[in-house]
Amino acid sequence: MPPPVLLSAANPGPYTGDGNNTWFLDGAEPALIDAGTGEPAHLEALAEVLDGRPLARVLVTHDHPDHASGIPAIRDCWPDVEVLAVAASCRPSRTLIDRERILAGDRVLHVVYTPGHAVDHACFWDEGTHELYAGDMVRLDGSVLIPAGRGGHLRTYLASLDVMAALGARRLYPGHGPIVEDPAAVIGRTRDHRLAREVQIAACLASGLVTVEAILGHIYPDLPPALEAAARLTVEAHLEKLREDAVG
Ligand SMILES: [Zn+2]
Repeated sequence: MPPPVLLSAANPGPYTGDGNNTWFLDGAEPALIDAGTGEPAHLEALAEVLDGRPLARVLVTHDHPDHASGIPAIRDCWPDVEVLAVAASCRPSRTLIDRERILAGDRVLHVVYTPGHAVDHACFWDEGTHELYAGDMVRLDGSVLIPAGRGGHLRTYLASLDVMAALGARRLYPGHGPIVEDPAAVIGRTRDHRLAREVQIAACLASGLVTVEAILGHIYPDLPPALEAAARLTVEAHLEKLREDAVG
């Protein structure tokens, strides 16, 4: 089985790192994990690996612009492509259900519903190789944002990390940053990072820092302006979880 081919979505930026990862799975039914943003360089790289063959399908992990906004451009290039996602909002050819099996390249991938970073986030599990296409569940080049009020929900995200951990993957192919070769450790560190932030934010509240602005300034003193809005939403996600925990 040929390994997945990394095709950068060619959209570098403060949220996307060097640009989103999309993963091309070659085989009888060539498939792409995540659509990118329609950058010409991405579409050209995709055309090159297809070498004249049609793209059979695109599996979209979630409907955030850096993963899904390239769907129309891909459809323009490959009109018969089947776009599959749990998220109906990105207008897939049809929506996926949890644990459904999809042919991608020469592999059978299982849909694993993992909401929390986004309301309709899914990972794709290759049971044959014990590898997981992980979307935005973890990343080695920064923190996963939990955008409260925009589909992000911290309690749900932590539960989805447990679902991921239970798979026992030996490798993760994330939507951003390097391939994860030690999934259990990285999932554990990701969970610990969120819980450490929760302790920090609870301490802020206890010391009288009760506004999002005050908390933001305290826990992210050197935050680049470009990331401020996302950090604010993540603080709000923590506050939401603390309120939920308080009521049981
Ligand atoms: Zn995302």
